Amino acid sequence: MSAASTPPTSSEPDLGDARRGRLTVLAGPTAVGKGTIAAYVRTHFPGVWFSVSMTTRRPRPGEVDGVHYHFVDDQEFDRLVEAGQFLEHAVVHGAAKYGTPRGPVERAIGEGRDALLEIDLQGARQVRETWPDALFVFLAPPSWDELVRRLVGRGTEDHGERERRLATAREELAAQKEFDEVIVNDDVRRASEELVSLMRSGRAGR
Ligand code: 5GP
Repeated sequence: MSAASTPPTSSEPDLGDARRGRLTVLAGPTAVGKGTIAAYVRTHFPGVWFSVSMTTRRPRPGEVDGVHYHFVDDQEFDRLVEAGQFLEHAVVHGAAKYGTPRGPVERAIGEGRDALLEIDLQGARQVRETWPDALFVFLAPPSWDELVRRLVGRGTEDHGERERRLATAREELAAQKEFDEVIVNDDVRRASEELVSLMRSGRAGR
């Protein structure tokens, strides 16, 4: 269906298709390299607008509030849920809450920018309901063994947390057929360029 024939849903401002940007949702299992791809795209494709998620998890060393995430406490997060401020939100890996603030995404799209959300599978499914003409891209590892190797190699989770993330990863990999496109992250530059090319080629609608 072409974007031009898709009526805006309640979460989308009706600004006319000519001026609207394209929303792309990038999801994929833990440690597949979503963050690395996002960093590459940020550096090499400054025209792409990135949503900054809200989370209740603690900042990691080097993470900057308002840049990597908006770090908020549980109470504030729940208040924003109640106020309908999120495009989607979820508890990820059974631990912290994460959500995409709705306003900035709608503004970016309304200004004609190509916007990227890097979120988990639960969030992608919610966006599918409210923003069906978005492009849904799944980032897959070259193999299961390679995914495990990357997760162990980055060394940021303890054994229990790694096991939890791998259990979620199995479910997420099984869901890749729900996505419009699958990109295998065998090489960061190649995968990033494929992503941006899909975002741009999708502008006229699928
Ligand atoms: P991390 O804590 O490692 O930065 O992210 C953990 C997971 O949360 C990743 O899979 C990431 O894609 C997901 N995530 C980050 N922001 C959001 C968000 O706004 N919504 C949802 N649903 N997931 C998110």
